[in-house]
Amino acid sequence: MDLSLFNPAFAQPAGSPIRELFPYLGRPGMLSLAGGYPSPALFDAEGLRAAAAAALADPAGTLQYGATEGTPALREALAGLSRQRGLAADAGDILVTTGSQQGFDLLLRVLLQPGDVVLVESPTYPAVLQALTLAGVQALPVPMDRDGLRVDAIEPLLAGLPPGRRPRLLYTVPSYSNPRGSRMPQARRAALVALAVRHRFLIVEDDPYGELRFDAEASPGAQAGVGPAAVGPVGADGSARASRHADPAAAAITPLHALGHALCGPVDNPVIHLSSLSKTVAPALRIGWMLASEPLRRRCAIAKQTVDLCTSPLSQAVAAHYLASGRYAPTVEAARQAYARRARVLTDGLRALPGDALQVEPPRGGMFLWLEDDGGAGAAGRRPSTSTPTPTPDPRRLFDAAVAEGVLFVPGAAFHVTPPSGLCLRLSFAALDEAALGEAVQRLARAWARALEP
Ligand code: PMP
Repeated sequence: MDLSLFNPAFAQPAGSPIRELFPYLGRPGMLSLAGGYPSPALFDAEGLRAAAAAALADPAGTLQYGATEGTPALREALAGLSRQRGLAADAGDILVTTGSQQGFDLLLRVLLQPGDVVLVESPTYPAVLQALTLAGVQALPVPMDRDGLRVDAIEPLLAGLPPGRRPRLLYTVPSYSNPRGSRMPQARRAALVALAVRHRFLIVEDDPYGELRFDAEASPGAQAGVGPAAVGPVGADGSARASRHADPAAAAITPLHALGHALCGPVDNPVIHLSSLSKTVAPALRIGWMLASEPLRRRCAIAKQTVDLCTSPLSQAVAAHYLASGRYAPTVEAARQAYARRARVLTDGLRALPGDALQVEPPRGGMFLWLEDDGGAGAAGRRPSTSTPTPTPDPRRLFDAAVAEGVLFVPGAAFHVTPPSGLCLRLSFAALDEAALGEAVQRLARAWARALEP
């Protein structure tokens, strides 16, 4: 095949570093801490079966093409869900997307050209780096710490850029980031939105994990003293539909989009909010959504017309019936509790690994734990400075030893624009139960020891 006929961006394409781990997954007995897969044990198959039956009871409505923006029932339900998360939204503000991944792709098409610059938190979600590379857009990393994106690092970075290289967009996962599991505190969120307004760039707030919080303080309704279980069916009963305004008892950790709305109003809000049912209901539904100001949302809908005409109306109907059934809140609550327990098992197990400068960040939500040898820059290591320093393994040797021991993780390089110098890796605690996680940690400890052998 004559590759010179191809788009040069695809002449030497690099596949997703995570998807390239798939061949290892098929090995008998392999325990994977690698993928961002929700736990299959937590899928509400019974509830989804009922929702699918209800959807198919209306074949003329669900087996036909649908509006590009999404079906009215699902847009209504997702607007209700958004309000419970503290966002200002009504059905007309929602663009349904085929996974939140498509939301980012549409934004790329509408907002960016080859040669543009985008700020990305670092480490970040690899599919975003891949999408930017394929679009010929330069990703400029902004460092993170345990509290997420370091907003204080942005202005010095901007000051060092030549005119004409000003970034037009910043990408962040402020709530339980992929891969760090970090959650940006309120003050930092406000500072970020104010900075975007001052320096005229847009913010993509990617939020597939926001509902998977482990601590009560960040729960919707926490300030009003009501738990997440009090959140009822969304949309169908009209209860969350009455006003466009965010539920006043909603999230103590405010979405960036809500802060942008408060600061600039609905049209000039610099924040675009992407979310998804993949991590809370099922990735196979491929239901995501975008909340963005009207001029941008309309253009994204036009871009979507050329991409897939519409998100599967059958899938949208299943999702809408499911959200109306009242089963969503208990399903999310069960996921929160299971993931919180699993995160604890993994965190405690990893703390036993040797390494003075090894930082094990206990996640406060989401699906991921980030392990990093920061050379002592973090909390000054975990041992008194008088003890003998213990090295951490070479990343490649650790990966090979882990595969040999039967445990898989994602090497940290996958999440960086430029490869990191020290050891870092992402471990997902979502898909394995506690017993399997305990075994995976033991395998990792053996691999660790093996990789340190001379
Ligand atoms: N954003 C982030 C940060 C993710 O981790 C993922 C899934 N791994 C996505 C977006 C894509 O999710 P979806 O299934 O909704 O396309």
